[in-house]
Amino acid sequence: MFDRLTKGEPVVILDLEWNQGSYYTNPKIPHEIIEIGACRIDAEGRIAARFSRILKPRIYRQIDRHIQKVTGITQEELDQGERFADAWQDFIRFTEGARLVTWGRDDFPVLKRNVEFIQADMPFEPPVDAQLLFGYLFYKDSSRQFNLHSALEEMQITSEIPAHRAIYDAEATALLLPLIDEKLGQLEADEMAVLETILDKERRIALAKVVSFPTTYISFTEAIMDRRVTHFYCPVCGSRANFSVPWFDAGKEKYEAVARCHSHGYIQGNMHFKKSTKGRVVISQRFSQASEEQVKSVKNKYHAFKMIPENKRHHRLEMHLPSSGRKNKASNPG
Ligand SMILES: [Zn+2]
Repeated sequence: MFDRLTKGEPVVILDLEWNQGSYYTNPKIPHEIIEIGACRIDAEGRIAARFSRILKPRIYRQIDRHIQKVTGITQEELDQGERFADAWQDFIRFTEGARLVTWGRDDFPVLKRNVEFIQADMPFEPPVDAQLLFGYLFYKDSSRQFNLHSALEEMQITSEIPAHRAIYDAEATALLLPLIDEKLGQLEADEMAVLETILDKERRIALAKVVSFPTTYISFTEAIMDRRVTHFYCPVCGSRANFSVPWFDAGKEKYEAVARCHSHGYIQGNMHFKKSTKGRVVISQRFSQASEEQVKSVKNKYHAFKMIPENKRHHRLEMHLPSSGRKNKASNPG
């Protein structure tokens, strides 16, 4: 049973701001963190400690104009910022023993990739998404993504907290936790069961492994034959998993696949192709543990895909698995 946020183990609310390349993107780190803001909440739901750091970016050293406008962080502040690696160690100490809470589901994947980029460990479980809880508890809609400040308005909380800086957004989120907890305490058992299913799915998404790599191809038809695409990794243990359904275009050029890890069961893969500024294909993949239901859904889509006659599939592509035992020289007329 999902317990209340401010009762029990301590909570740290985390919020991040990040920079991006205006002209160029490093696929290993499309978003580079420039501010970590957090506050630690005590058992009464009050802010017990604050954490606020501006970081000096290594990849995207110039602040993106749009990001500067939204956050108000200046180039001078960034130039004087500290190294992410140092701030990360401090943040781990600040958060010790606490459960992470964020507003929205975007911060954790960005954090994970930044941590991977400096080859540090990720000691945290995926955060609880207070935005999702808010939507579910107050509007019966967990996918409704309330902007933090409109959520405060909806709850008629007036605050002098400025918007769009990490530490302020963490503080503003703190104002909503007592209301969220009150509602959580009123949930019926069946509503709680629904919520737990939603949170479980979110957790799997948050734990997904995301990879992105550039290729030299011009066309998607070539990209889907790339040898690296035939590798399918378990997001939990990192070992090779065997395909149950090969990559296929499940519609709108979003590719899906299913594989099985010996230790961790079914894994769903999602993939899409982008073009770099030089017109070359960049492959982005996401691997996550899948429920039986998700596997069934991909299998159904694959079945529907196979029902389309090959000459009517147009640009919809499918990976051809190497047949076992002999060298694969299979042709792909698609
Ligand atoms: Zn595994």
